[in-house]
Amino acid sequence: MKKNKIAIGIFLSLTLTMLFISGCTPLVESLTVQSNTDTESKTTEDFLPTATVHEAEIVTDKEAFVARAENSSAGDPFMPEVGNLGYDVQNYAVQITLDPGTYWLESVVDIEMITTQDHLWQISLDMIGFQIDEVLVNQEEVDYFRLNKKLYVDLPQETNSGEKLNISIRYSGEPVQEMSAYVPFIDNLGIQFREDMLYIVSEPDGTRYWMPVNDHPLDKASYAMEITVPQPYTAVSNGQLLDTTIDGNQTTYYWENKEPLASALVTIAVGEYQRIESVSPQGIVLRSYVTMETAQDFQTLQPQIGEMIDWMSDLFGAYPFSEFGYVEVSDIGASLETQSMVIMSESAILDESVLCHEMAHMWFGDWVNLNSWSEIWRNEGFATYVSYMWENRENPAQLDDTMEFIAIGLQEDPHDFPLNNPPAEDMFGRDSYYKGALLVHQLRKQMGDDAFFSGLKTYFEQYGGSAASDADFQAIMEEAGGSSLDDFFTSWFE
Ligand SMILES: [Zn+2]
Repeated sequence: MKKNKIAIGIFLSLTLTMLFISGCTPLVESLTVQSNTDTESKTTEDFLPTATVHEAEIVTDKEAFVARAENSSAGDPFMPEVGNLGYDVQNYAVQITLDPGTYWLESVVDIEMITTQDHLWQISLDMIGFQIDEVLVNQEEVDYFRLNKKLYVDLPQETNSGEKLNISIRYSGEPVQEMSAYVPFIDNLGIQFREDMLYIVSEPDGTRYWMPVNDHPLDKASYAMEITVPQPYTAVSNGQLLDTTIDGNQTTYYWENKEPLASALVTIAVGEYQRIESVSPQGIVLRSYVTMETAQDFQTLQPQIGEMIDWMSDLFGAYPFSEFGYVEVSDIGASLETQSMVIMSESAILDESVLCHEMAHMWFGDWVNLNSWSEIWRNEGFATYVSYMWENRENPAQLDDTMEFIAIGLQEDPHDFPLNNPPAEDMFGRDSYYKGALLVHQLRKQMGDDAFFSGLKTYFEQYGGSAASDADFQAIMEEAGGSSLDDFFTSWFE
């Protein structure tokens, strides 16, 4: 992610203008329940067994409640409220109908998953809001209930590890809009509805506001998107456009993203777009979607974008996805590294440093995700540093000066939290970007260029397509440099 107009010198004003909201308190949120037999909202007390239930059954249900709670988190200590265990999603097939002018959607999501635990009789997904019309497991209608921003789906029979399940959820309605505790500078994550445009910005916890999902990067999957919109709109998503079909006034766009994709990096954008196509000198297919007003200026940037993506491929390993490009959206104050189809604020669509920052995320944050969101510095620090590298690629001494300037700025106003475990509201704060970039620069200086870049290539070879931790990263860099980096990382993470 890259906030608009963030720069050294406005650190303090940026920090002050952020809305400080209460921190991450996921376990005390209000609980509501919706079941398919009774769609009334209920409190937790209503959900727990009532007096009409036999005492033995009460005990059983309490034990079941604990078992559910254990599987209803991916285990990320920074963000325990998202993600679920017990299964590994292979593919999401999403059929969705959207209209920029209408604050409403209808959708069917088919989730293909492999179970990873024995004796499963229920699975949970992250999902907030909407009227659920039907839940099927392997084509069979099943019971479900909703609690604590989760959807619990009963399985038709007890299921053991390694079994394939197809879960289909049909739902519709107005999306819930509320601010993420981690992104206090955007009103709400998920779908941004505008008069003549809509788009999805979900990092880190917003996908559950528009589709049922295992909403943590530890469970990446492929996606097939079937997006129906009224004419004259174009629908854009991650991956490759396979086909379009027209039915009356409606056009359906079929997008496929085959490579592993973290839920936070899934996007859809719907607007009146022109498709701009080119190919990088090394042959990477570039396709972007911009408004008519921007098209001509953006077209002139194509050679630079091609040169940039080839330069990164040489440094970090081949571009990991089938195609690459950007999609222009109205201003929400940030751009986002949505995989292979980057969401760009209209104020940044022609800004080379933001284009570069988001492109760098294709490696740092997309191809390799984070085991824990607390280590967001590894995404933002690298993306920030790579854009400075690009800017100063002809003049390394100037890069040193830039980093020195950043170091002075940070020393003048230090924060009192560890770089690898910020408060929720500071996840996308100054340190993740600039202190992270400074760490990267110092690591490069300490290791030397040969070991540093060879370590990065190994990191992508080993963890590409999945997620890694700071400890995994440190181990790779130690191997590449031939010496311990314990003291180095301890001093940065204190
Ligand atoms: Zn970023």
